[in-house]
Amino acid sequence: MSTALAQRDRVVLSEVSKTYASASGPTVALSPTDLVIEPGEFVSVVGPSGCGKTTLLQLLGGFLEPSTGALLVGEDPIAGPSPERGVVFQAPTLYPWLSVRGNVEFGPKCRGVGKKTRRADAQRLLDLVGLGDAGDKRPYELSGGMQQRAQIARVLTNDPRIILMDEPFGALDQLTRERLQVELLRLWREARKTVVFVTHSVEEAVLLSTRVLVMSARPGRVVLDRRIELPGDSADSARELAVTATPEFQSYKLELAEAIYTAHN
Ligand code: ADP
Ligand code: MG
Repeated sequence: MSTALAQRDRVVLSEVSKTYASASGPTVALSPTDLVIEPGEFVSVVGPSGCGKTTLLQLLGGFLEPSTGALLVGEDPIAGPSPERGVVFQAPTLYPWLSVRGNVEFGPKCRGVGKKTRRADAQRLLDLVGLGDAGDKRPYELSGGMQQRAQIARVLTNDPRIILMDEPFGALDQLTRERLQVELLRLWREARKTVVFVTHSVEEAVLLSTRVLVMSARPGRVVLDRRIELPGDSADSARELAVTATPEFQSYKLELAEAIYTAHN
């Protein structure tokens, strides 16, 4: 990747903090935070409930304004939501009155993309997430895992440079979750998007990420920033669930679990 391109997609947080006002007084959800995320990184954020993970993701999404500091993507301040930063929420947020295909086409349609192009794009993405035959179904006809895949296809249709995911697999059973983890890794390897992924699961964070941030209990701040390098070349499909049995995986898991435990107390 050229330096110019790398800088264009770099996410930079300088002294970003968030304090919520409420009846019982202010809540500092995020302490002043400096963070640089390079293009193509897969960064997971873990930490106890209420430590500000969702707040951090919503700041990156442009849904919240920071109380102090600045967020940039390349040279541009994050000033609001943008299709360049796609968000996958924990609970599926598909429009119930549209078909699965209609949901995936919705963003491009709003942007005025022609019917033929957006239909072809939607089919390609539905194939990619394993829903090639489900385009005509309504969201309520899909299982939780399928709805989550449809949500991912809907985000990808905008070809975002950055994908923000807030515990996207939290509500799924273990088998579906593992399948989607492998699919997400495959997608990330192919498309090399920047991913910021919030999860409760240390195991999931180590498996998926190139880097894991551990946040402390309120007021949230990053207490550990750990680069993950697992055996096997992550550029091919060698790195699958089998990697969880390696000593390297276990050692990262232990280190992060200890950091979360300390951060909690
Ligand atoms: P996490 O996702 O790590 O569980 P959140 O970012 O959701 O944490 O919340 C961080 C803290 O900010 C919590 O104490 C939460 O109660 C508080 N908080 C979150 N959103 C709001 C809000 N809109 N108004 C007031 N307090 C909030
Ligand atoms: Mg949360």
